Amino acid sequence: MRIDLHTHSLVSDGTDTPAELMRAAAAAGLDVIALTDHDTSAGWAEAAAAAQEVGVRLVPGMELSTKFRGNGHHLLAYHPDPNHPGLSDELARVLGGREGRVPGMVSRLQALGIEITVEDVAREAGATVAMGRPHVADALVRLGVVGHRNDAFALYLGKGRPGHIERYATPLVDMVRLVRAAGGVPVLAHAWGRHGQDSVSAEEIAALAEHGLQGLEVDHQDHSPEQREILRGIAGDLGLVVTGSSDHHGTGKTDHDLGVHTTAPEMLARIDQLAALNREQRA
Ligand code: AMP
Ligand code: FE
Ligand code: FE
Ligand code: ZN
Repeated sequence: MRIDLHTHSLVSDGTDTPAELMRAAAAAGLDVIALTDHDTSAGWAEAAAAAQEVGVRLVPGMELSTKFRGNGHHLLAYHPDPNHPGLSDELARVLGGREGRVPGMVSRLQALGIEITVEDVAREAGATVAMGRPHVADALVRLGVVGHRNDAFALYLGKGRPGHIERYATPLVDMVRLVRAAGGVPVLAHAWGRHGQDSVSAEEIAALAEHGLQGLEVDHQDHSPEQREILRGIAGDLGLVVTGSSDHHGTGKTDHDLGVHTTAPEMLARIDQLAALNREQRA
């Protein structure tokens, strides 16, 4: 059984519609796929219908924007109730912060002499709910300023680059609690992938687990083989679920093909069990 628990559609910053993504999952030989768009569940319904048609199981998820010690960290949430008032209010705040910073980033790029407008970004974002830097990057590609999203991040949009602007994200512990309150299973995404091993220590992961964190995404392209083994050990010590996944973004990210990493069936079974328990106990 092949299980990929982290993917994006164009509802956030992937390049496939939710239905196309489900068809791609079937074509890639996956049995189970989680749709985990950034900060939104807006793709679930379309994905569920298409998943049923092609015979793959859809796990409804999201990848939530959080902050921990000044760094952005992503929290995967499986089976949360997206209509839980606490969670949906917070997501509205996060999505507002996403949209609100686009004009500022555009002004910064204009100051560098690049002729880009907010409309250019809006056009790339299309029907996207979770607008972000990837859509600014796509506009830069379309305008011929850079060749690929990756280059846009390296030159302009990555942290510390001249077009970058911070946005609001929920404190990580608060988001863990909100996901649990909404009956979801919180799993820390690519914990050491973006900001390295010091950005969240084993002790801090243990403290997060005390506040309700239930899993670690271990097998991910942004983790080195050594980091994966250390994280697997931490998860084992704490009794956390271990996941592996592609973090597929369609053509928006290279080296993240569907199924490039997968999750063990017994770990998915634990996520399903925890979700059922969390739903019973939820606030
Ligand atoms: P934002 O949520 O607007 O801050 O943008 C962050 C998103 O940009 C992440 O979810 C990634 O999918 C994407 N991203 C981050 N770094 C890169 C990169 N170097 N190349 C391509 N995409 C990236
Ligand atoms: Fe993304
Ligand atoms: Fe992520
Ligand atoms: Zn992701």
